[in-house]
Amino acid sequence: MDIIKLKGVSKFYNNKGSISLGFSKVNLSFTSPSFTVITGESGSGKSTLLNVISGLDTYEEGEMYINGSETSHFSQEDYEEYRRKYICNIFQDFNLIGSYTVYQNVELSLILAGFKKKNIKARVLDAIEKVGLTRLKNTKASNLSGGEKQRTSIARALALSSPIIVADEPTGNIDRKSAREIMHLLHELSKTRLVIVVTHNTEDIKGYADRIITMSDGKVVEDKKINNTKEKETNVLNYKNISLFNKIRLGIRNTFNIKYKFVLLVFIYLILTLACFFSYSSIRKNESNLKNAKVNMMLKDTSKKRIIISKKDKSEIIDDDIKKLESIKHVNYVNKNDMFIDGVFDIDREEDNIYFYSKYKSNKELKKVDVGDLPKSSNDAVIKISNAEYKSMKKNINKYLNVPYKIYLENDPDSNNTYNINVTGFIISKDSNNYMFDDARDIVYLSDNILNFFRKSYYLNNSNKYITINNKTYSSDDIFYLIKPLESIESGKAIVSEELNSYCDKEECTNKNISLKIENAYFTEEKVFNVKNVYNSSNFKKLTGLAKELYDEASSNNTIFINENDYNELYDKGTFQASVFVDNVKSVKTIDKELESLNYNTINVKDTLTKNYTAYNVISLTVIKILYVISIIILFFVCYAVIKIILNSRKKYFSIIRILGATKGVCKDLLNIELLVDVNISYLIIIVLIMLTKRNIINIDYLDTLIKYLKLKDYIILYIVLILMSLLISMRYSRKIFKYSPLETERREDL
Ligand code: ADP
Ligand code: MG
Repeated sequence: MDIIKLKGVSKFYNNKGSISLGFSKVNLSFTSPSFTVITGESGSGKSTLLNVISGLDTYEEGEMYINGSETSHFSQEDYEEYRRKYICNIFQDFNLIGSYTVYQNVELSLILAGFKKKNIKARVLDAIEKVGLTRLKNTKASNLSGGEKQRTSIARALALSSPIIVADEPTGNIDRKSAREIMHLLHELSKTRLVIVVTHNTEDIKGYADRIITMSDGKVVEDKKINNTKEKETNVLNYKNISLFNKIRLGIRNTFNIKYKFVLLVFIYLILTLACFFSYSSIRKNESNLKNAKVNMMLKDTSKKRIIISKKDKSEIIDDDIKKLESIKHVNYVNKNDMFIDGVFDIDREEDNIYFYSKYKSNKELKKVDVGDLPKSSNDAVIKISNAEYKSMKKNINKYLNVPYKIYLENDPDSNNTYNINVTGFIISKDSNNYMFDDARDIVYLSDNILNFFRKSYYLNNSNKYITINNKTYSSDDIFYLIKPLESIESGKAIVSEELNSYCDKEECTNKNISLKIENAYFTEEKVFNVKNVYNSSNFKKLTGLAKELYDEASSNNTIFINENDYNELYDKGTFQASVFVDNVKSVKTIDKELESLNYNTINVKDTLTKNYTAYNVISLTVIKILYVISIIILFFVCYAVIKIILNSRKKYFSIIRILGATKGVCKDLLNIELLVDVNISYLIIIVLIMLTKRNIINIDYLDTLIKYLKLKDYIILYIVLILMSLLISMRYSRKIFKYSPLETERREDL
């Protein structure tokens, strides 16, 4: 039976409305094996005829039969199947993949025909040997001469052993000597199959042709049989679907095949990935700012891990208690100077015009510093500063380190209440500061020792004072007075101003008892003093040993001088309120219970915070989200446009592999795999950068913010989004490019 039969077949080209004829009303039948030559002048329709026969192009009129079955109703899929079973094309311009080696080009056709990897190698090497290219098997096709290229495409046909080989001017682009060799090889092939060769050089085919068909003006004008070959059974190619493994292998090969394309694609995806990361983390950042904008106007440290404690019996919290508390599981550390956590310290070096305005944290919280050293002695301190501050200090950082600073409590009425500290190091903050509710910008890390000093003046400034004279008790509103220590006075004795005489029995206080009482949020202390002397302007210096000039101030403040030990007993108290910092918010509840059972009153800071949602905040977050999503969509299309341009250079590749028998589905998968590898590489690059930033090996500010707001879940979401984007890009592209027949795709410029 005729393997191919054409009955009145015509082919027209429709180019933007103008119709031209390819060939018309052709009646031909082909048998196998045979070396059939088609010849005729240029433009006579030879190529068009071959393309129709090999299913690369469609026809408009008549009927073509393949092994007796009609093809006029064939879908693209049917043609794909037909081509895979029957056809192997050889072209004038070779249709090799330039960036593949000879071996890879031959291998490709076998991979696409579904051969298993283990069967491929021997076949490929055998075919390469038969065409005499063993020496060049690892040379890239783009580096071969014309004759070598054509021998490679014949090796491709040989390896595949399809029943029909269609060669369109295979010797058109090569020298005469090579041309004769090519025809020889094709003639060898024609002994077992149908070989149809188009040529207008009849010299090359002398002695080979079994039949010569001559065309002119789209018509067959002569059909001359030279040898009568015996018709044989046609063995159609038993092709299989390409295995997933081979698809992935090819996809990965294609990814790295052309270096500039690979770099460009990864670059584009890197931009897309970074933009997605940026938008996503910005949204997360805004969200978390909104969520965490919980405030307690009283507290400066609104850490949710903070529990404020005091003893139920109102007694002092001593170091033993602190040790016990710190040994509780999930307790990070205890700050025994709770009252300062919510205060502000000013730190300065006036002579150098350096000022820090800081919240306070215990130096127990210090793990490492970014600049300088951790504190060594109890007067050492570390300050956490903003990135911006650090940038301005960086140049002469030594001016700031290991020099004495004065530290004092903000709003302390006593300007003498300063302490000298030595700053040994700085921590550089990575957060952008939230000034809204808290104007204390920096954080100073101090030892308990320094805080002991400030605790005394804190009690001094924040206590109510009462005085009982002659069995009557007055608050300091009624009788304003100050208490000052004086070394020269014995314990239990006091020296008072003559102003007090008017409250004493018989208007004389000497030798009478007065009681001084100190009362504040933490403790009450009362002590009785026996008045030793009453001072006036003339005896002030003699009684107190102080300069005469101090008299006016002392008397106007009603200063009461007492022994220094007595003074300390009144004011130099330990701590009554501490803050327990737990290591994670989840443990707050259990630790709170435990503290309760240890007889502490507790306040969980986390429960004292109020939300700060405002309609404005919520709306602006929504707007921000929408803007980011829109910009990502715009960027996506920009990237798509660029990727399309890059991929257009691959149109040839896809048309070649389709001609070699790759179905649309296979092409799509290959493209998908290629783009997915690129996306994964881009994603990996960014993850590596993030890891390096996390480990402080590199320092990219932008990545810091990323890290801060993204959790594992977010990385997974972003990964999925990027994969989907990549699939969308390849889907959009392949929908366009694989819609038409391979030749049509190559012809079209609008794709
Ligand atoms: P040959 O291979 O014998 O030189 P072709 O088959 O290439 O001839 O061309 C046959 C006719 O079809 C010519 O008139 C040519 O102009 C026309 N033709 C070929 N390809 C196209 C095309 N893509 N678009 C429009 N006309 C075409
Ligand atoms: Mg032609």
